[in-house]
Amino acid sequence: MEQQIEQLFKWLDDTTNIIVEEEDVPYLEALIAASELLFYRDLPDDLANDYEANLKKKLNEAHYKDYEVEVRRKALQLTILKGMKGVTQQHHHITPDTVGMFMGYLVQRFMGDTKHYTMFDPACGTANLLLAVLNQQNESSIKAYGSEVDATLIRLAYSNTNLQEREIEYFHQDSLKPILLDPVDVIVSDLPVGYYPDDDIAYGYDLKLEEGHSYAHHLFIEQSLKYTKEGGYLFFVIPSFLFESEQKDQLQNFLKEHAHIVGLLQLPNTMFKNEKMQKSIFVLQKKGPETKDPNKVLLADLPSFKDVNAMESVLSQMNDWFKNDR
Ligand code: SAM
Repeated sequence: MEQQIEQLFKWLDDTTNIIVEEEDVPYLEALIAASELLFYRDLPDDLANDYEANLKKKLNEAHYKDYEVEVRRKALQLTILKGMKGVTQQHHHITPDTVGMFMGYLVQRFMGDTKHYTMFDPACGTANLLLAVLNQQNESSIKAYGSEVDATLIRLAYSNTNLQEREIEYFHQDSLKPILLDPVDVIVSDLPVGYYPDDDIAYGYDLKLEEGHSYAHHLFIEQSLKYTKEGGYLFFVIPSFLFESEQKDQLQNFLKEHAHIVGLLQLPNTMFKNEKMQKSIFVLQKKGPETKDPNKVLLADLPSFKDVNAMESVLSQMNDWFKNDR
């Protein structure tokens, strides 16, 4: 598999570089064009001869159907990461594979025998997380939705989705404004962290700050609960300091009223540059007439994903939790 990823990564990277040189556009823009070329296999009519010949040569070298879906996702993930390195805005951020794998596992365990359901990522970015989660639910048929404010990222999400032959309905908008979407069964999202600049929109939220800008990550939790069915599950990547801010009481009271706190899993600290950047996976269930608090909240410090023994031990603790304490 590694070799295949490397091969497809190289194809995407080389083709992207040809487009960058010829058209003088940023790498991520050219990557969108390269991945569309791979998917649609169509060249525009008005290309210079050499350029057209180069791209035709590349097209003859690769067919996406020759690669497994996860190989396609990982190859594109590597090229996106290359494109984001150094040059992009701080908020351009792609959820790492390991987080996607783990979230996918959690969704599978929590959904159990439910095989037909809806899923939404309100901060979907390139859709790497959403697709990593979907690709792990092979026996389920899931109607998926994503929303993202950034134009480049949502175009990458489209390319990503096409290349993996998935259907995801996208909203290109500020997800804290109303979304034309019925509540879903499952939310998965790596939340943007920081201040939300639009105070007028924030005003409509219970979790607004009375003065100054509100926290985007708090508003995103409230908005996600709004778009979740009663009894539905929410899986968030959150900053581990979420319950340490001066707004923690407001957040806790809000959660107590609307949701059950189901789990808090600290991601391995080796994944983050420093303590302040540390993240966790936070699992909630939206309250409904038939829901209840779990006997115990699922708490764990996840080991480095490379540490197979430690990982097995955490997974077995989680099995016990699903059996006895859920
Ligand atoms: N899971 C994504 C992936 O795998 O590519 C990365 C998500 S990233 C941590 C958070 C995303 O939230 C960013 O792509 C950012 O552009 C988006 N975002 C921030 N504020 C937003 C808003 N108000 N509405 C919609 N998207 C927003």
